[in-house]
Amino acid sequence: MSSVRKRVLVTGGAGFLGSHLCERLVAAGDDVLCVDNYFTGRKDNIAHLLAVPHFEAMRHDITHPLFVEVDEIYNLACPASPIHYQFDPVQTTKTSVIGAINMLGLAKRLKAKIFQASTSEVYGDPTLHPQPESYRGNVNPIGPRACYDEGKRCAETLFFDYFRQHHLKIKVVRIFNTYGPRMHPNDGRVVSNFIVQALKGAPLTLYGDGNQTRAFCYVDDLIDGFVKFMAAPEAVTGPLNLGNPVETSVAELADTILQMTGSRSPLIRRPLPVDDPTQRCPDVAQAQSLLGWRPTTPLKDGLARTIEYFDKLLANSRVLEHEPAG
Ligand code: NAD
Ligand code: UDP
Ligand code: UDP
Repeated sequence: MSSVRKRVLVTGGAGFLGSHLCERLVAAGDDVLCVDNYFTGRKDNIAHLLAVPHFEAMRHDITHPLFVEVDEIYNLACPASPIHYQFDPVQTTKTSVIGAINMLGLAKRLKAKIFQASTSEVYGDPTLHPQPESYRGNVNPIGPRACYDEGKRCAETLFFDYFRQHHLKIKVVRIFNTYGPRMHPNDGRVVSNFIVQALKGAPLTLYGDGNQTRAFCYVDDLIDGFVKFMAAPEAVTGPLNLGNPVETSVAELADTILQMTGSRSPLIRRPLPVDDPTQRCPDVAQAQSLLGWRPTTPLKDGLARTIEYFDKLLANSRVLEHEPAG
């Protein structure tokens, strides 16, 4: 029997962004199917949704074909932090490329609208600031970040070829650094590392001189952008940048987190990872004009909510099996 509710598949739904998206879709009244292999996602992230009748979780790896019936697909499955995507780089490329082929095949059979979580990493170490969607990037195809960067670039190619060849309804978003509650405490990303280190009184690990920049978007703002983009007219395919166009150096971020947590942790210098981009900031003019979207959460407000989350998580220390990378 067909349902009046929209049936939505979220791959990577037990991850950081995926769990927030599932929550938002369930609240909007959709029938949500979360598919995840739990490589970096956690059942805890979706535990509060399991009692909802219109939410369902399925363990599955998207590098294998998937036969389900849905109206829309959000393809988020892929490890996102450098230490996680470099742990098994071949699997990372398979997830991006073979996973995209399977999800596109599924969308083609179902005539379903499909959304791809691409990344600012498609711009590599950019030579143009801020980065507009028309910029073609500066990616090292054989470095340690390539499994992720080139995998995501190839996935974009596949989305646009399925669009041209099979007339699929596609939405490709390039996500810039996003943070918030439910980031994995050991994922090695700068916001989670610095907050966990500050709260534990451990040294904050500053890679390089700390002058490299990122632009940090709070998760709720990003999810607003996802949902608006998915609802936009068919001609709005992207690629579309979503992120916060406020650039912050990594050293400034460390100072802000130390000040907000009241921590006396010292900073310790560590070498800059290979191919670490020196400057990154989105040009979000297109998102603003096409969707009327712009982030509204100031960094300090978003950090306050994230610090509160990690504070509670640390209190429950059995969740933290290992120290964060550094
Ligand atoms: P995350 O690691 O928390 O979530 C990824 C999820 O995908 C996890 O739950 C993981 O278990 C799952 N997964 C990985 N491989 C899979 C596979 N083969 N089959 C099924 N599930 C699989 O990361 P996130 O930050 O939530 O990122 C979600 C998506 O957004 C990713 O595609 C990532 O590339 C993209 N993205 C995120 C950011 C960011 O700042 N958070 C920035 C750019 C792009
Ligand atoms: N696929 C899937 N679920 C479906 C339909 C297809 O996982 O409901 C997979 C299928 O296994 C195939 C891939 O998607 O490997 C691409 O499908 P497509 O129809 O584009 O190509 P083909 O099947 O002709 O290779
Ligand atoms: N970084 C840092 N200390 C850490 C973790 C990261 O100085 O403990 C730096 C890292 O070198 C990079 C920036 O912070 O310049 C953002 O790193 P992250 O891994 O969060 O994201 P990405 O490099 O993928 O943008």
